[in-house]
Amino acid sequence: MNETTRRGLLQAPAALDWSGGSFDVVVVGARVAGAATALHLARAGHKVLIVDRAGPPADTTSTHALMRTGTLALRQAGVLDTIIAAGTPPIREINLVFGEERISFPVADAHGVDAYYAPRRTVLDPILLQAAIDAGASFVPEVSVNGVSWDSRGRVDGITVRDGAPIPARWVIGADGTQSRVARSVNAPLLCYHPPSNALVYAYFGGVDRPGYDFRFVDQRNVGAIPTNDGLTVLFVGGPLAEASRDGESYLMTTLARLAPDLVANGRRVGRLYRANGIPNVLRDPAGPGWNLVGDAGFTEDPISARGITDALRDAVLCAEAIDRSLRDPADEPEAQAAYRQTRDRFAVPLLDRIVDLASYNWEGPKASRLLRELGEIADAECELLSESILA
Ligand SMILES: Cc1cc2nc3c(=O)[nH]c(=O)nc-3n(C[C@H](O)[C@H](O)[C@H](O)COP(=O)(O)OP(=O)(O)OC[C@H]3O[C@@H](n4cnc5c(N)ncnc54)[C@H](O)[C@@H]3O)c2cc1C
Repeated sequence: MNETTRRGLLQAPAALDWSGGSFDVVVVGARVAGAATALHLARAGHKVLIVDRAGPPADTTSTHALMRTGTLALRQAGVLDTIIAAGTPPIREINLVFGEERISFPVADAHGVDAYYAPRRTVLDPILLQAAIDAGASFVPEVSVNGVSWDSRGRVDGITVRDGAPIPARWVIGADGTQSRVARSVNAPLLCYHPPSNALVYAYFGGVDRPGYDFRFVDQRNVGAIPTNDGLTVLFVGGPLAEASRDGESYLMTTLARLAPDLVANGRRVGRLYRANGIPNVLRDPAGPGWNLVGDAGFTEDPISARGITDALRDAVLCAEAIDRSLRDPADEPEAQAAYRQTRDRFAVPLLDRIVDLASYNWEGPKASRLLRELGEIADAECELLSESILA
């Protein structure tokens, strides 16, 4: 285990007996979406329990590039300094290639963010979870959730677990990822679905020495570099789903050698290869009586967007605000929950349009450039929203 991973680790969670206990909120899923939502709710004074079928968050298949909104959300949550102290390098320069066009620019100082960060999930997730615990939330690992329980009025009033008694709660949050058990159990309406179209492979490399993010949209492929902890850089290749059957190692190395030889020239791979073939784009209704969905459970998008963590952090704020209002004044619940639904979709729907288009690989350089510019405009509006949030 390297130094960064060790520093990102949680303190051992205290054993918790919830029999007879009562929680305001139970959060299913302890990674970025669940931990961030729990953090905001615990800080707002609510009694929060986080459960996860896994142990404390470990590595997962996800690159972790954050732009301005994600970085701003981490700063507002009060965890950015800890992430920086864990050795996460600042990203101060963006290099983009769209076909023949090359653009480089410094990260502008706006919304109090003058650098972006790409913390490994072994750093980001444990730090967020520890912050939630420090704010008063309880965390119990290795609790596999079967579904939700209902009261006689048809409201969700807790969760049922595989090996143990049901856990009652006034509110249940499904932060349990794209295959969300909570979403299935509450029958969350499907608002939008786009089938997968992208085959992605990546690995960590030493010796790459890039000063910033490098994202290239060339020859109907998406290749690039994301500097991260421990002097390592993610090098990735995305392409049409038909390429998913190709041998991952040779796909990564030959595509990089062909489209970005400068990135891989001095690179030496450290660790295993990661693959994500065919992530579907799924938008679910995130709100109902006594329940919410946050993160991938409510909105999963193709990884070409490098947006899922940012969306989870943004929606953690919106969702926590809605629950806080609903718990403080039940008469306010319909309006508070409608606000969460509408505000999330004000961002999610236009994001999804651009992301599905980008992940189709049905573009030449100028179209990819336009789609990225439009994604950037949506991010500006997100930063405005976060800056005005009460809980953030
Ligand atoms: C290849 C790839 C690259 C990506 N790159 C980026 C990127 O560069 N930037 C970016 O912002 N996003 C990126 N994303 C998206 C990002 O990884 C996701 O959006 C993010 O992980 C969502 O976090 P989450 O907390 O919602 O869900 P998850 O990270 O999926 O966490 C869900 C948690 O719920 C737990 N759980 C599930 N079911 C149960 C159950 N029944 N009972 C109890 N616990 C349960 C799981 O154990 C897990 O800990 C990428 C994704 C992929 C696949």
